Amino acid sequence: MRQRLIIATMLLLSSLPALAAEVSGFRVWADPVKTRAVLDLDRKTAYKLFTLENPHRVVVDLQGSSIDIPVELDEEHAGIIKSVRYGQPDKDTLRVVFDLSEGAELKSFLLDPTAQYSHRLVIDLYSKSSRQSSSLVKHVSNISKPNREVVIAVDAGHGGEDPGAIGRKKTQEKVVVLQIARELKKAIDAEPGMKAVLTRDGDYYIPLRGRYEKARKARADLFVSIHADAFTKRSVQGSSVFVLSARGASSEFARLLADSENASDLVGGVTLNDKDDMLASVLLDLSQSATRQASNKVASDILRAMKRRGKVHKPHVGRANFMVLKSPDVPSVLVETAFISNPGEEKRLTEKEFQQRMARTITRGVKDYFYSSPPPGTWIAANRDGLKYVVARGDTLGGIANRYSVSLTRLRSANNIRGDVIHVGRELVIPTS
Ligand SMILES: [Zn+2]
Repeated sequence: MRQRLIIATMLLLSSLPALAAEVSGFRVWADPVKTRAVLDLDRKTAYKLFTLENPHRVVVDLQGSSIDIPVELDEEHAGIIKSVRYGQPDKDTLRVVFDLSEGAELKSFLLDPTAQYSHRLVIDLYSKSSRQSSSLVKHVSNISKPNREVVIAVDAGHGGEDPGAIGRKKTQEKVVVLQIARELKKAIDAEPGMKAVLTRDGDYYIPLRGRYEKARKARADLFVSIHADAFTKRSVQGSSVFVLSARGASSEFARLLADSENASDLVGGVTLNDKDDMLASVLLDLSQSATRQASNKVASDILRAMKRRGKVHKPHVGRANFMVLKSPDVPSVLVETAFISNPGEEKRLTEKEFQQRMARTITRGVKDYFYSSPPPGTWIAANRDGLKYVVARGDTLGGIANRYSVSLTRLRSANNIRGDVIHVGRELVIPTS
């Protein structure tokens, strides 16, 4: 592995002009399996990377580079990196040394500039002792239990190197969506028969495909990705719910939005290895139509809950080609909770009260979905008898029957209704088989 790495850097050495690059920034991020160090460079430069033992270190030699910033280690995010220092072994080389608390496998790559960043060198340190968190295993064993809980993967967008959208008061999307995701997990876990797992529970980046892979490993019945919108027009506001569109976006707005959300991987930094997955998932897309139907259903249930409780941006479910929704077998939706570019909503996004209300609203929609179409063998499937539904403005008897997959006749007879008239606020019994 290390040998291949050195060959790769040698190729790089020969193909790049020997221009002096300057290191202008340094950041670290730690997730459950790796620590990521990022160096901002003003141009692409050749580099060499190797590890040393006793004590464990990683050495990065950047050809013809200089550094003009104090390299300070953000200890909260530093993972297995204990300290950083740099020097100049000869006049054409900048050497950066990371002192590690344990041995690590290395992966490194250069990233091209994006809107937010210049050229970057990314170094991933995989700690040899780290293990995948055991919570995933717990959920896998859960699936074989009778009356198991339904599992909802709650995905806080962006993270780490990728801040997502940024409001005028500098509120970062990655921060508020993680707070909302944690509230959502709490609200879901409080419901009998429902259980949430977070795809990320900290400030680090996960590639888009890695997010739904996590959901699949946890045997999730549903994947909900949480975001906050940004738009050039500051007056634009409200929540929206999106599902994947295979045939392009439902509007120009949705297309722009998908572009910016999908750019996340460029910003967050994916490795070249992720490209193989892309081909695989294109093939899997072909078997996606059942999943897509379920996604549509849960998206409209969430949107309906939102319409009852707050402002929605568009009255219907949006469609866009979001990478993160491409799971072939887990129904997936993306919720844009509010517009971080709208000053009022930016403020609200940071408030606990709004975050909790948003979490309760999404939970309401998710619950409606699972109670109307519970996966077989789940607690909800066994316990939804006597399910009640409170008629909301705009509901029709046919619409409710359709949503809960019961015939209009059975719905009428269970509630002693003759015609089609139902009043807002009336509690209906939903018959189950
Ligand atoms: Zn986003």
